[in-house]
Amino acid sequence: MPGGTDQTLRPFLWRAEKLYPETEIVSRTHQGIERYTYTEFSDRTAQLAHALDEAGVAEDARVATFCWNHNRHFETYFAIPTTGRQLHLINPLLPDEHIQFIVDDADDSVIFVDPSLLPKLEGAAAGAEEFDGVDQFVVIGDEVPETDLDPITDYESFIEGHDIDYDWPTLSEDRPAGMCYTSGTTGKPKGVEYTHKMLWSHTMASQSPQGIPMEDTDVVMPVVPMFHVNAWGMPFSATAGGAKHVYPGPSPEPEDLAKLIENEGVTITAGVPTVWLGLMEYVKENDVDLSELETVIVGGSAAPEAMVRFFDDHGVEVLHAWGMTEMAPIGSVSHLKGDLEDADYDTQVEKRTKQGLIAPGLEFKVIDDDGEEIAWNGVEFGELYVRGPWVTTEYFKRPEANESDFEDVPGSEATGESEDGTSSGRWLKTGDIVSVDNDGYVKIVDRSKDVIKSGGEWISSVELENALMAHEDVAEATVIGVPHERWQERPVAFVVPAEGVDDEQLEADLRDLIQDEYPKWWLPDEFMTIDEVPKTATGKFDKKVLREQYADESLV
Ligand code: ADP
Repeated sequence: MPGGTDQTLRPFLWRAEKLYPETEIVSRTHQGIERYTYTEFSDRTAQLAHALDEAGVAEDARVATFCWNHNRHFETYFAIPTTGRQLHLINPLLPDEHIQFIVDDADDSVIFVDPSLLPKLEGAAAGAEEFDGVDQFVVIGDEVPETDLDPITDYESFIEGHDIDYDWPTLSEDRPAGMCYTSGTTGKPKGVEYTHKMLWSHTMASQSPQGIPMEDTDVVMPVVPMFHVNAWGMPFSATAGGAKHVYPGPSPEPEDLAKLIENEGVTITAGVPTVWLGLMEYVKENDVDLSELETVIVGGSAAPEAMVRFFDDHGVEVLHAWGMTEMAPIGSVSHLKGDLEDADYDTQVEKRTKQGLIAPGLEFKVIDDDGEEIAWNGVEFGELYVRGPWVTTEYFKRPEANESDFEDVPGSEATGESEDGTSSGRWLKTGDIVSVDNDGYVKIVDRSKDVIKSGGEWISSVELENALMAHEDVAEATVIGVPHERWQERPVAFVVPAEGVDDEQLEADLRDLIQDEYPKWWLPDEFMTIDEVPKTATGKFDKKVLREQYADESLV
């Protein structure tokens, strides 16, 4: 048989430890900055692997983490999957019921937990039989605080004294290596398993020039939490490239990020827009040296145009990326195409604020309400379907979602595998409503559950929200569709006014604004004033909560 070894994670670390033994891994902690090299990292990873064996953790067990971004969390990123176990990243910002559901659903054997997150985990575990299957808790640090979690040990004692060499097993690329749950904006969290092959191919696509490449001269700081879709795969890609890692630790403030950027010479960093809005404010008011910083990766929610322009003014390129838990997560990156390099700056910014060009290795199609593929003209829109080596073809133990959220290619088996073992060509229905322009740039117009269907036409809630939030007297705004007898649905806007603003005057101004810019039937039927827009565990607007809150009131 032609072909080499399977596609697994181990060679990425092997290469970094051999080629870049002195390159640093830096972590911000409550006590200060910790730093060590790939050599020490790799030694400690081997010790952790031995510790898991010695603790009797089954070689295919699911091992969970409940941690912020730091070097020890990074050690689990390699030690767990490269011994054949599965790294399950739990989002500690989820409500207790979701955490209980997730721990039970994944059947986690061990949970690694940060001291600062211990109270949250204790709260979720208290009296919950969902935690009965957990055999061991390991608190990150060198002592065990007072806690009800049992049995529990501290991380340093757990790995101490173990050999720094480990006989890493040869694994199949189809072996599960990771797992994350969607944060449940669409109901109960759904588990997504990542095999070694998925993470390997995601890493290699990220490393391509059309991805978010990282090399040995780079200093990479993932601000996106490591519990959120593998910190967008950066710990793996930075290792594959032999880059220096910088982990910002528990709840970093803009000042902490600015200091790390300056002091460690960060060249690439990544996070959701709210993180960068905070940093932008800080940079405006303080003297921050951004001269080493080359790239800010923005994803998770749309990158505002002002953000792209702000960082351009500081000599830093914003790379806007789109992705999902279901695809580990990168799907597209907004690189400027070669033939747009001579375009005027405004055109370039318009392209770069779109969600971007599909990553090499993936395919997509966009299907409208009639089941037809849309034209790539930047006007028509429909639901985005994606497939490729790192796109999941099923949810963990969720047959009903597996029926509804994927499209099988006729002639292939619904299981995701055809009879001869080749891939089924199954498409993931992303739930994102997009347009595609004639250059191939994908633009997210809405989520399929949020797009407002009024009189047979679609209204983009996202566009209305952006228009409302562009008004200086609006702190936050969101728009939902509410059922309507005649039109099927009508938009209702929920607005958080800026401090000291008169509600009635603001509503009149906003009506004028929308009437001037959009077709008349896009104008929300109601403008409601609220104190705050509810948010999900990943900081996105939680429209489900608003819909539930206002379910009994007839708004229109
Ligand atoms: P959830 O928020 O449902 O738990 P994810 O964290 O996987 O799940 O989020 C994926 C969704 O986030 C995408 O389907 C898309 O709607 C949104 N998203 C991700 N990146 C972007 C982006 N750059 N611009 C706009 N929306 C984005």
